Amino acid sequence: MDTRPKSTVPETAAASSAVPMLDVNRQNQQLRDQIGAAIDEVCQSGAFVHGPACQEFEAAMAAYCGTKHAVGCASGSDALLLALMALGVGPGDEVVLPSFTFFATAGAVWRLGAKPVFADILPDTFNLDPAEVERKISGSTKAIIPVHLFGQCCDMNRLGELAQANGIPLIEDAAQAIGAEFEGKRAGSLGKLGCFSFYPTKNLGGFGDGGIITTDDEEVADSLRVLRDHGQQPRYHHALVGINSRLDSLQAAVLSVKLSKLEEWTAGRQRHAAKYATEFADLKLAAQLVTPTVPVGYRSVWNQYTVRVRDGRRGEFQRYLAGRQIGSAVYYPIPLHMQKCFAELGAKRGSLPVSEQAAEEVLSLPIYAEMTVAEQDCVIRAVAEFFGAEAARDTKQLAA
Ligand SMILES: *Cc1c(COP(=O)(O)O)cnc(C)c1O
Repeated sequence: MDTRPKSTVPETAAASSAVPMLDVNRQNQQLRDQIGAAIDEVCQSGAFVHGPACQEFEAAMAAYCGTKHAVGCASGSDALLLALMALGVGPGDEVVLPSFTFFATAGAVWRLGAKPVFADILPDTFNLDPAEVERKISGSTKAIIPVHLFGQCCDMNRLGELAQANGIPLIEDAAQAIGAEFEGKRAGSLGKLGCFSFYPTKNLGGFGDGGIITTDDEEVADSLRVLRDHGQQPRYHHALVGINSRLDSLQAAVLSVKLSKLEEWTAGRQRHAAKYATEFADLKLAAQLVTPTVPVGYRSVWNQYTVRVRDGRRGEFQRYLAGRQIGSAVYYPIPLHMQKCFAELGAKRGSLPVSEQAAEEVLSLPIYAEMTVAEQDCVIRAVAEFFGAEAARDTKQLAA
């Protein structure tokens, strides 16, 4: 039995570190009065489920993403589940998706009795490699799930062509990519359906769980609304079996207030990403540190700033940062094809080498909008010091 004490600090609580990985209280405090008033309004109305606050937020999200419809649900995981259900995915079907992603992407496929077929990623963006997807498509493929990882879209041209040529719908997992763009179009409007999460650590985070599904297809939107409500239509008449998955009015009200600030917060993340890029380039870091790239035509919203640490030095680097009370995180340490629960799929180590190498090398550094100049300089200085004395000499001019 594991007798080590478990951490009692919740993942999203304000941390007391010198530079926390994330501090959700900073942005929530900015809006304290507005959020309080919005919550109060819902409490006064008594409409806690599917109330006007939900419809307002759904309309605002559809407009933000540039889609005709947005259907709220209980979480990003449920958004994926409902999207697959709306397409009729079930036993005997295959769904192509990346192995290097958060568990929910594959979990939703598995729960419906369908088979997740893992495709490898591109080394520079960590996103699905279209050539790999093409190799993994079979006669049983019912959907493809491009995950826009860390806030940047997949190559939706190539994936869109593949989808069209094979008559297979794309379900975007945009949980980390609200506001991200590919050739001027927003995440959530690039496939048949788009799935979003409002988990507190996402770029638009609620006060608990929440999710939404975007689509231009009216028929799909209608079936999503039925499926999230036990499949009943009209009330107490069930032509199909759905689930109970609601976006609470309280969450919707909070999220509407926060959505009005999202572009400003995204600009903050982009500013920090640009500063990391310039400073790290100036440091002429050893080839041991690889910084993220944003290809032309992409707008990243930087849910994470994820570097690669080569030569097996990631653990050492992460401990070095921790010693300076600088937060960092490994998203994700085990690719999904290597997870125990998917062992019966028979994937071997070495079968998705790019995903496996990423899992060994990635490290995400703090990047939220409210990070101060002093905090970011603290991260940059630590990076400079760790990766070489020569670089460290150039960093004296950074703010103390
Ligand atoms: C967060 C996340 C999800 C799941 O969202 P929840 O709201 O936590 O259920 C799905 N996919 C990706 C890529 C995510 O980052």
